[in-house]
This record gives sequence, structure tokens and C-alpha cells, in this order.
Amino acid sequence: MQILVAKKIGFCFGVKRAIELAYQTLEKSKSENSPLVFTLGPIVHNPQVVRQLEKDGIITINDLKEIKKGYLLIRTHGVPPLVLSDAENKGLTIIDATCPLVQRIHKIVTNLKKENYQIIIIGHKDHPEVVGIAGYAGKDHQVIEKIEDLEKIKLDKKLGIVGQTTLFIDNFQKIVLNLIEKAYECRIYNTICFETQARQKATLDLAKEVDLMLVVGGKNSSNTKRLLEICKELNTPVYLIEGAKDLKFSWFNLKKKIGLTAGASTPIRITQEVLKKIKNNK
Ligand code: SF4
Repeated sequence: MQILVAKKIGFCFGVKRAIELAYQTLEKSKSENSPLVFTLGPIVHNPQVVRQLEKDGIITINDLKEIKKGYLLIRTHGVPPLVLSDAENKGLTIIDATCPLVQRIHKIVTNLKKENYQIIIIGHKDHPEVVGIAGYAGKDHQVIEKIEDLEKIKLDKKLGIVGQTTLFIDNFQKIVLNLIEKAYECRIYNTICFETQARQKATLDLAKEVDLMLVVGGKNSSNTKRLLEICKELNTPVYLIEGAKDLKFSWFNLKKKIGLTAGASTPIRITQEVLKKIKNNK
């Protein structure tokens, strides 16, 4: 049995930056003898990374009400501006680990709002990144996940369109084409992350040539789930695993070529452990 690894795996620059900021903040807080560093929700969508950060002393909270003082790390997906002002008003020290590509969307949306565009966010309504963007987008914004949603929403004639960073470019294009038909003016920004696109392409290429794909990553990670969908669309059998412990060797019966890919927040170490376990059991 042959095992092939996708050409692009490992942390993206946004996740690397967030983890570096987390450890720098932890060091700083320890040197100040006030070791209180919190993240509002998981800083990245990978359970092993979050567990390791918690072991090292970074505490995940779900609501600002849970804390009174300390450093607050803002996750890669960003938060609505109201959350930032609440944290400031509480006197928390904010360390913003929002990915620069997500910050770019916040800026685009803020500027479009000033020019009276209705903001259209193409993405998943409940995803933290979209919730964060929506906070900048004004009351009249709309979130569109699929073309059918267009029938249910009220659109102005002047639209400012952005997308969640982890979207498939094809889905983004399809929805944009439909929106163009419904408005007098559309300002469209391609906000899909190049790191995400590179992983999607590497996964697509690999899934075409193997009998089975394994996607390594957090089950709550949007970019990881997109990789899973790519394999499913090609009808390549696929499993999403969070680590080597989830492997089942019965999956490999009669398979000649196995492909391995991983989400942008999956540490390379976890993918290597999966690879090692498969190789040792061949
Ligand atoms: S996947 Fe892209 S947008 Fe998301 S954190 Fe990484 S670099 Fe930033």
C-alpha cells in the first residue's frame, strides 16, 4: 500500500502568528507575576492545539462575564467590534490574534458601510468568522450560504460583497453571479484565503489519484471540513480524523493508494503521527 501526502499541509501563517502571540503573551504575563491569559472561544479550531495551550496556562472562556482582569487573546477568526469594546471597558488587555486576512475583511466592510453599500457576506451564518464580520456590517447586512437563500432575503440596489475566508471559489463565484443580476451596482471583494485555496487544490489533486483519503484536523474546523467535502464531491472515500488514535485499519482493506491531507490549523506533528502509525501497521 502506498501513502501519499498532500503538497500543502501544516499551519497557515494566521494560525502560526496566533500561537506565537499566545506564547509571547503567556511569557509576558508570567514575568509580570499575573499569569492570567484568556481566549474567548478556542483560539484556533484544533483540539490538540487548544489542549496544549490550556496545559501551558492559557484559559479558554466562553463569555467575558467569566473574567475580571488579565490578557484577552482574540482568536484568528476575529470577533465583532462590540466584544472588543466590552473587553476594553472591563479593563482587559487585548492581544489581537485575528488573522490579517480576516482583519482585511473587517476593513473592507467598514469602508463599504461608510459608502452606503448593503453588505452581503457569503459564508456560514453561525461560523465565528462570519459572526465577527457581521458585527462590522450594519443592521441591513445579509449572510448567504447557498443560492436558494437569495429567494428569502431583501436586497438593496447597491451591494458590497465579501466571502468567508474558507469558501470554495466556485461557490463564491456562483452566488456572486446571481447577485449581479439583482442589483444596480456590486462591489465584489475576493476575500478567500490563499492558504485555504492552496490546501484545497493540493487535496483535490491528491484525491483524484488515490483510493482513499484521510483528512486530519479539528471536526469544528471550517477549512478542514471543506477538504472533506472536496473528496466527497470526487466520490473518493474519505475519513476525517483528529489524530492517529482515530485510525481504523479496516478502512485500508483492498486499498492500494492512501492520500493524507490536513487542515490549516492541524500541527504537522499530528499528521506525521498518523503517517507513522499507518506505515508501522502496513
Ligand atoms: S486559513 Fe487563512 S484566513 Fe484562516 S487563519 Fe489561516 S491564513 Fe488566516
